[in-house]
Amino acid sequence: MAGISIRNLVKKYTPTSAPVLDNINLEIADGEFVVLVGPSGCGKTTLLRIIAGLEGITGGEVFIGDTKVNDLGPADRDIAFVFQDYALYPHFTVRENMSFGLEIRKTPKDEIERRVQAAAKFLQIEHLLDRKPKALSGGQRQRVAMGRAIVRQPKVFLFDEPLSNLDAKLRVEVRTEIRKLFQKYKTTMVYVTHDQVEAMTMADRIVLLKDSIIQQVGSPYDMYTNPENLFVAGFIGSPAMNFFDAKLTGDGMMDINNTGLKAHVPPHLQQALQSHGKTEFVFGIRPEDFQHDPDGDVKFTVEVVEPLGSDTLLFCPFGGKDYVVRVSPDLQAKVGQKLSFTYDPGKARAFCKETGKAIR
Ligand code: ATP
Repeated sequence: MAGISIRNLVKKYTPTSAPVLDNINLEIADGEFVVLVGPSGCGKTTLLRIIAGLEGITGGEVFIGDTKVNDLGPADRDIAFVFQDYALYPHFTVRENMSFGLEIRKTPKDEIERRVQAAAKFLQIEHLLDRKPKALSGGQRQRVAMGRAIVRQPKVFLFDEPLSNLDAKLRVEVRTEIRKLFQKYKTTMVYVTHDQVEAMTMADRIVLLKDSIIQQVGSPYDMYTNPENLFVAGFIGSPAMNFFDAKLTGDGMMDINNTGLKAHVPPHLQQALQSHGKTEFVFGIRPEDFQHDPDGDVKFTVEVVEPLGSDTLLFCPFGGKDYVVRVSPDLQAKVGQKLSFTYDPGKARAFCKETGKAIR
């Protein structure tokens, strides 16, 4: 097992193009599960492939454990890569797919058999060992791809969007399998996804990339409760945080969305805004941090009601923007109904209008 250290990493695909990754610094601890997440094209697959040695770098250093691996090929890095499309050999059986990498490394036959059996048992694919990939479902193929990685007993597991070809139900199942796999083997894992729900549910730490740089690194809780900027606040959480254009009007109040509607500014934000000398800012509040209250400051007219069973989402246009409120199904809200809300002041966040940075 080993940690990964990425120092001042720069990646350009051509000498004249803009960097896809620009001065990335990241320390991944030995035995940590890190998820790289971000919108399409942000460079997460490139970063994973660089760790694997499948992609060269323009500048910086990559260490696996204490070894600088800049000049080492994929086969010499002691990593296992699980691909989105499984990358199984179609003419090999499941057993052959799982044992092939070990045979190349001249692992003794009885040791190969022992490891294949143990991995197959863990992944519940023992009954499939003599089948070929075409006779397997998507979820079973993904398990075989994981089995092939497990038997190698690598220092690091790398996953590139391994669940994207599975349907929604299977995705949740295999997500849990991967987390169990991590808990059993405690091997360092780096996992790429564009899905923030996967990132939140699986990661010890999330690395959120955009515009060639790391926007924030933190535990799922940190990213959710203390986003560093508007992008992070909008990306992590579903439905996303609600944002209002806010302007201080004195007496601890703010005008929201230039509508003349006034709401209270939470005390911690009043202090932060004062110390930053800001009177105009973006006010953020998550859908679940509103509470229905007939005396509340925020008044919405419900446009769409989405019952989810455990709770209900209300979509409410206001001042030219759309907002989402998560309420109890017992409220039995109706389309067209006017409802007033308060919000949990401790959960409200403020961001700079110009830079998007959190104001704390
Ligand atoms: P997605 O979620 O869509 O897979 P990603 O975050 O994994 O995106 P990358 O695949 O790492 O993004 O790509 C980052 C950027 O680098 C993109 O703009 C992409 O077009 C570009 N890119 C990727 N591979 C190459 C390549 N071989 N040559 C030139 N540009 C590339």
